[in-house]
Amino acid sequence: MTTNGGFEPVIRRTPVFCGIVPPHILDHLAQHEDQALSDSALRTLQHDSAARTRRRITAVRTLTAVAAPAAPDAVPHRTIYDAEHGTALPGTEVRAEGSEPGQDATVNRAYAGLGATFELYLKAYERNSIDGNGLPLNASVHYDVNYDNAFWNGDQMVFGDGDGEIFTDFTSSVDVIGHELTHGVTQYTANLEYYGQSGALNESVSDVFGSLIKQYSLGQSAEQADWLIGEGLLAPGVHGVALRSMKAPGTAYDDPRLGKDPQPATMQHYVRTSRDNGGVHINSGIPNHAFYLLATALGGNAWDRAGQIWYDVLTGGELQSDADFADFAKLTVAAAKARYQTGEESEAALKAWAQVGVQAS
Ligand SMILES: [Zn+2]
Repeated sequence: MTTNGGFEPVIRRTPVFCGIVPPHILDHLAQHEDQALSDSALRTLQHDSAARTRRRITAVRTLTAVAAPAAPDAVPHRTIYDAEHGTALPGTEVRAEGSEPGQDATVNRAYAGLGATFELYLKAYERNSIDGNGLPLNASVHYDVNYDNAFWNGDQMVFGDGDGEIFTDFTSSVDVIGHELTHGVTQYTANLEYYGQSGALNESVSDVFGSLIKQYSLGQSAEQADWLIGEGLLAPGVHGVALRSMKAPGTAYDDPRLGKDPQPATMQHYVRTSRDNGGVHINSGIPNHAFYLLATALGGNAWDRAGQIWYDVLTGGELQSDADFADFAKLTVAAAKARYQTGEESEAALKAWAQVGVQAS
């Protein structure tokens, strides 16, 4: 919904570090009596906390133009690098755009996941890459040793191999790749502050589009989708199915080593905490569930109407970087009315937010 000819400057900041595995899970693992397990978690936590500090210090403000709709034949520009178990980025180039798959399945999955993300944004929302302007998509795999996370560092994707006992290879879930790259989209658009409710919205938007990227690539309807984030990421033997569930927040895992999924589905169970930037990976369950309720109420493909409404809010220019859940909810109802004239979509959005205890009117 660009109303200014595409040239209104938008303030953009480099985001704080946001890995797919939240600190509450790593904290739990770090306390485990199994030395190897707690060492991997501690190492990941220390790395992530250093990266977080570094990002705050180097935060910059840049001016960027609102993106024009992409040409339908736009193509991605992907490059995959191998960090070879070190932490220097990006590492050695191992696959460039258009080249054939190689022997390393991790490299091929990263390449395919970047492609699936590019595809959804282009085909469903006419967006040309993360910045709307054809940004090259770079990713490094085999980062560090036993590294239990994947993250977008403001410029590129980074994937660990996991410790093998709790987490498998972080390229194994396409929605995780989509989640992290969507942090880039948010960075270039609404730039939601990574703290409290605006931070939980930032996380939720990444889960929403991460799941939509998976659903689009598998051709699944809202009804058929699993609505899980990180399905396939937990190693065999872990009691759980994924990192998060949008369908049933709080039920993704319950494991002696990981703890129990702490996500609430409604405002009634909103978690007040200073950890995890004010619970950004915890309270994101509430807007996640609202999106799930809207998408399943509307039926069909979730990226069509429900996804379009969320995308319009994220990129429309009215969403403030410090928005809370109610601000976001009201904008979804307004966006639904603006794009669809029947009233069905805005009514369904109102109802979905009411079901999670957020006032959208
Ligand atoms: Zn995230």
